[in-house]
Amino acid sequence: MIVSLAEGANVSRVRRELTARGLWVDATERDGRGRVFLVVAKGSSPVEPRDLEGIEGVGGVTVAESPHPRIDAMGGVVRVGDIPIGGKTPVVIAGPCSVESAEAATRIAGTLARHGVRFLRGGAYKPRTSPYAFQGKGAEALGWLHDAAAKNGMHVVTEVLSEHDVDAVAEHAALMQIGSRNMHNYALLKATGRTGKPVLLKRAMSATVEEWLLAGEYLLMHGASGVVFCERGVRSFDTVTRNLLDLGSVALLAHVHRLPVVVDPSHATGRRELVLPLARAALAAGAAGVMIECHDDPACAESDGAQALAPEAVGTFAETIVGARKQEG
Ligand code: PEP
Ligand code: MN
Repeated sequence: MIVSLAEGANVSRVRRELTARGLWVDATERDGRGRVFLVVAKGSSPVEPRDLEGIEGVGGVTVAESPHPRIDAMGGVVRVGDIPIGGKTPVVIAGPCSVESAEAATRIAGTLARHGVRFLRGGAYKPRTSPYAFQGKGAEALGWLHDAAAKNGMHVVTEVLSEHDVDAVAEHAALMQIGSRNMHNYALLKATGRTGKPVLLKRAMSATVEEWLLAGEYLLMHGASGVVFCERGVRSFDTVTRNLLDLGSVALLAHVHRLPVVVDPSHATGRRELVLPLARAALAAGAAGVMIECHDDPACAESDGAQALAPEAVGTFAETIVGARKQEG
């Protein structure tokens, strides 16, 4: 947005008025005829241009077109089944890194549901850095996850890894997950958008916020009913934690862009003892929820055992921090 000043305007006073409305001035430009323009920073609060035109000294306001108009217009709440994500109550999405068996999925789902957790996550198709690592149990795991969720009144969140699996994943998932490694896979974003389902879009490990928002724009443009952004940590110089959790971007999406953003403290840290402290920090920063990995027997987990919590611990977190209601029975 560019605010042009009237002749003789008091530049500092106009800047102060803009700042008071949550607008940050990136640059003050002067044209050849001495006219002054204030360039408003992209991350500033949303305002109506006509509200600025009333400020003494403002001559006019030009709004630059956003590169992601659909995301800007989406609103802060995405409904998944009967649950709003981005509303007053934060959500907890929990489950194993990989869906290993029907029995394990059902056991984990049962524990989580007893504590009021309504979203069951789990990977059927696993994006692994090494081709020798466990690749997921594929299509049959989708069925196990779906049944475990259905038995416990939960909604499925699972990753779609390839265009070939879009229909199968759409059939079983209430919220389709695009993993960090695929945030830039535009063909997959288009195909996933075409299902018309809501999508959990993980931030790529070195994506800028703008690239992340534009990936969301692809999804909406191709038909997704909504996009829930998921911050899972970015790559940093320090490997003491698996990734670096960027809570500044979470606060930016939540409070400035007013978009639903959840945080995955499991992949962000890679260490179970850090997961719940960062889950609390994420909610304090404005996250609409958290996604946490858990496992009955982390030492034997096929993937990501070091960051897995006990399902009971995630359930207790959901009840005490998020106020999820325990289901009897
Ligand atoms: C996951 O959530 O299962 C996962 C693979 O995470 P990420 O894409 O963030 O690495
Ligand atoms: Mn994992």
